[in-house]
Amino acid sequence: MSREIQIKDKEFELFITEEKIRERIHRIAGRMNRELKDKNPLFIAVLNGSFLFAAELLRHLNFLPEISFVKLSSYRGTSSTGEVNDLIGLNEDLRARNVVILEDIIDTGITIDFLIKDVKRHNPSSIKVATLTFKKQALVKPVDPDYIGFEVPNTFLVGFGLDYDQLGRNLNGIYKLKDHRNA
Ligand code: 5GP
Ligand code: MG
Repeated sequence: MSREIQIKDKEFELFITEEKIRERIHRIAGRMNRELKDKNPLFIAVLNGSFLFAAELLRHLNFLPEISFVKLSSYRGTSSTGEVNDLIGLNEDLRARNVVILEDIIDTGITIDFLIKDVKRHNPSSIKVATLTFKKQALVKPVDPDYIGFEVPNTFLVGFGLDYDQLGRNLNGIYKLKDHRNA
């Protein structure tokens, strides 16, 4: 795994190794095996970013959950409404289900807050949130994920699903933007 990579105009340095990421995801899978096995959970993975997290996590569950992949399309609403999100791809009946949302990253928490509210409208029994990375210091919404891979600093990350300008999602490690102030 290279320690440094360049994507377009930006330089990144290795921040979390593949080994560490996988180990942490396996630990979350272990907890889910104990806590969710008898709850018939429905996993909802948010594309694109969560695809590798979801794959590694779900492969290590020792039961047979349902899994759905959704996407958030954001577009500019008319005049004052600003950014509007739409949840697409959710075809399952969520009533009385135990839903587990899988995210790659929670930054301000605005996206997951929207998702939770949207899922709630479908009347599930419970909603849990699992996120690979969590920028706790950047939160502007009161979000408290149930399963957290890594608490990360408020810097820009790529790799293991996370992109910079749609590139870098396939990197096995998580890289952070190089800080040139101290270089
Ligand atoms: P939110 O601020 O709503 O919690 O996160 C919104 C979205 O911003 C995330 O789903 C993700 O796509 C993007 N994002 C936030 N922080 C990072 C980061 O460090 N790296 C990348 N690649 N995307 C990020
Ligand atoms: Mg995302």
